Amino acid sequence: MNSDLIQNADSLRARVLDWYHQFGRKDLPWQQDISPYRVWVSEIMLQQTQVSTVIPYFERFMGRFPTLQALAESPQDEVLQHWSGLGYYARARNLHKCAQTVWAEHGGAFPRSVAELSELPGIGRSTAGAIASISMGIAAPILDGNVKRVLTRLHAVAGWPGDKKVADQLWRIAEHYTHPTHTREYTQAMMDLGATLCTRSKPACTVCPLVDGCRGAAQGQATDYPHSKPKKDKPVRQTWMLMLQHKEELLLYRRPEQGIWGGLWSFPEYPHADALQDALALSGTKVQHQAALAPFRHTFSHYHLDIHPQHVVLNRKPRAIMEGTEQVWYNEGQITQLGLAAPIKKLIHSLHQAEPIK
Ligand code: SF4
Repeated sequence: MNSDLIQNADSLRARVLDWYHQFGRKDLPWQQDISPYRVWVSEIMLQQTQVSTVIPYFERFMGRFPTLQALAESPQDEVLQHWSGLGYYARARNLHKCAQTVWAEHGGAFPRSVAELSELPGIGRSTAGAIASISMGIAAPILDGNVKRVLTRLHAVAGWPGDKKVADQLWRIAEHYTHPTHTREYTQAMMDLGATLCTRSKPACTVCPLVDGCRGAAQGQATDYPHSKPKKDKPVRQTWMLMLQHKEELLLYRRPEQGIWGGLWSFPEYPHADALQDALALSGTKVQHQAALAPFRHTFSHYHLDIHPQHVVLNRKPRAIMEGTEQVWYNEGQITQLGLAAPIKKLIHSLHQAEPIK
């Protein structure tokens, strides 16, 4: 591996620019008549949206709002109408607000520093860097999705880029490489490299100008980078389930339509063991036999549910348990005809296996 390449910013920049001159895209609509206004509109449209989708929108938008003044003076409804179909409408509202701010507070000209640009509505540090470098020739780094992908792979940067430490590291790398003079071409080249070669799932490393210095490619697992957002530990909730049995029948109630297992049949549930005992005591019946079954965990997409089943055999049916709900007393054969969540089915099955209902 050529580790000089990532030490020596000059040699990396030279390769990136050579590649761009040969293969880069130079005829996109926002690469013509370059101005801060056109670069800004294109950058906002390109957030979360592919180039091919953006092109017709950009052209229509520029046809209707050819200048910052035209945009600033138009009603918001019209701006939204020209955005319709691009999604993420907060972008369009911010775009309109930003045009009005630049018009009213900056005399109609975008400020010429990344810090001031970043203070405008809807403009983050990377968009500010793109406007500054592409339309003003200021040596400012960018870190959009494409560039982030290239740099995390090139340096095998571990960790999720949404994490501040990782983001700071990436910004330092981006600054290190930013071209001091050919900043417009370099910025466009890095964006292109990410969009056309170093793609999300199939990086074309064999034809990439950076392959011999790329740590991600050397590890043979470039697509592992950038790392995904770490999954949060799911919270754990507890529930005590009352499996009431009278003769051959078990009591089930229908769950509300909203929430987990909506509309399915289940056992009465309590948030702790004492609440379950209180419910039993108030039910006006006599417990013949009570046993705690083995607790088990059921996992939903957003939390774990630890289920503590209590099997209680009664000498007669209770007056009231879970009042105000639809309830049934069913025997084993009838129960299988009901809509049951998997853990409830499992519980009934285990109960019958351990101790058939008599
Ligand atoms: S060598 Fe492969 S992984 Fe590395 S920057 Fe080039 S395309 Fe991306």
